[in-house]
Amino acid sequence: MKITGIQVYQIDLPLHEGSYQWSGGKSVQVFDSTVVAVETDAGITGHGEVCPLGPFYLPAYAQGVRAGIGELGPHLLGEDPTRLGPLNWLMDRALQGHPYVKSGLDMACWDVLGQASGQPVCELLGGRFGDDFGLYRAISQEAPEAMAERIAGYRAEGYRRFQLKVGGDPAEDIERIRQARSVLEPSDKLVADANTGWTQHEAARVVRAVRDLDVYIEQPCRTYEECLAIRRRTDLPFVLDECIDSLRPLLRGHADGAMDVVNLKISKLGGLTKLKQARDLCVDLGIAMTIEDSWGGDIVTAAIAALAHGTPPELLFSSTDFNSYVTTSIAEGAPQRANGRLSSSTVPGLGVVPRMEVLGEPVLVIR
Ligand code: MG
Repeated sequence: MKITGIQVYQIDLPLHEGSYQWSGGKSVQVFDSTVVAVETDAGITGHGEVCPLGPFYLPAYAQGVRAGIGELGPHLLGEDPTRLGPLNWLMDRALQGHPYVKSGLDMACWDVLGQASGQPVCELLGGRFGDDFGLYRAISQEAPEAMAERIAGYRAEGYRRFQLKVGGDPAEDIERIRQARSVLEPSDKLVADANTGWTQHEAARVVRAVRDLDVYIEQPCRTYEECLAIRRRTDLPFVLDECIDSLRPLLRGHADGAMDVVNLKISKLGGLTKLKQARDLCVDLGIAMTIEDSWGGDIVTAAIAALAHGTPPELLFSSTDFNSYVTTSIAEGAPQRANGRLSSSTVPGLGVVPRMEVLGEPVLVIR
């Protein structure tokens, strides 16, 4: 099979809550997502999606996805999309770095492979565990009372794991964590995710002030070294996210005992192929994972589900259903949350059919 063309679409994804805020006053009102269609000479088209969390979260931005595909795409014409190993090897040589540019292309090729082989991507990635898996809900940064109220509302919808966006003023963050924990049951999980927003001394204040609570601390500071210093002075369970962007920091973190959980995002590592490597390594090392992406709509949600559902439940800390945060559906067939849980598609490929009336005309065509 050969790749004969690549089409790129731009879609705006507004939020049900109106906006999403996290550390340092960063916020997004409308997500700028990119859908990639990989066409083949077999008449099969696969789809992928990449949606950065604005330009100030990871080294990635929405226009960069499309510019990068414009650069990389021509190298893929004539290549076999079902041979993900050679395809990723080629992408890494044709374009240094820029994992988020490759993510949608890799995802689309897994979709092609699934359709061609008659297998759901979840099965190709190793096979599913059980009927479904648990999701977390991200709680956008607001006043402490408002965040506790949001948690209570989402808990009523079935969620049992919550990721509280902190990384602001330490005294207010301490109050956010206290109020959030107070509306939860003992079996619920609460993560205080600072998204790199605290300096080391601020993080030290917060972890000491909440040490009596059942709460996880996620990525308190910008660098790995600052996070490790905080990790070494708290006995609270610890999650690393932003600084784990490939296998190398993951292995270093494991060797240093730097975390109990890692947050693996598809576009942060560069696609399903790379994320599968990291997931399988974490399974062997006994590191629990949140499997997700930076953001996205129906196609990203389908890809997340394919990986998360194939992760042993004991090591799947949580996952997420981004398509329930946004008001626009870009594809039919995507997994839909039921009682705080999700399951991956059982139809061949990613199981999604893009709504072309929503995608509109392509912004880039490579043939
Ligand atoms: Mg995080």
